[in-house]
Amino acid sequence: MSYINFIEFNFNDMKNILIKAMAICLLNMAAAGSAQNTRFKTKNPYYSRTSTTPLKVSNSEWKKILKPELYQVAREGATEMAFTGKYSEFDEKGTYYCAVCGNPLFISTSKFATTCGWPSFYQPMGKNSVKYRKDTSYNMERTEVLCGRCDSHLGHRFDDGPRPTGKRYCMNSVCLDFVPFKKK
Ligand code: FE
Repeated sequence: MSYINFIEFNFNDMKNILIKAMAICLLNMAAAGSAQNTRFKTKNPYYSRTSTTPLKVSNSEWKKILKPELYQVAREGATEMAFTGKYSEFDEKGTYYCAVCGNPLFISTSKFATTCGWPSFYQPMGKNSVKYRKDTSYNMERTEVLCGRCDSHLGHRFDDGPRPTGKRYCMNSVCLDFVPFKKK
């Protein structure tokens, strides 16, 4: 191999490595984008993990933004099938945000194992995380849990939870957006 050929060989090698690195970058960006695309039809201008401004957005507007599976539960109060949600059996450490607006809702340390089929927590993250509303549908008297910022339906609160609160916040996975704690 002459000196010139040797240089060309290394240049081609470098080019291939760069092309592969760029392809991996693009794939990672697509994966991050698809996490948003699983919930939203279009860009969600109301989504923020830091804003505490209450949102008053009509359901007709949310219907344009949210994918049907999220819209039906969050805005029309439907319940996802037991044992089908992605967080019903899930114990990673991190924060759960509202999937509609990004409001911080729960921390994984308050999540506990249940056999009920939905992710369950014994307390919300802060005083602005959730709101409550009396729900008398299906001839039952229950406490509905809503997002404290956007009023989306999240699930219900029951009185059969573990200590220290004795409450069980029984949530729909589709309404939660999990973000793992950053590794130190
Ligand atoms: Fe919300």
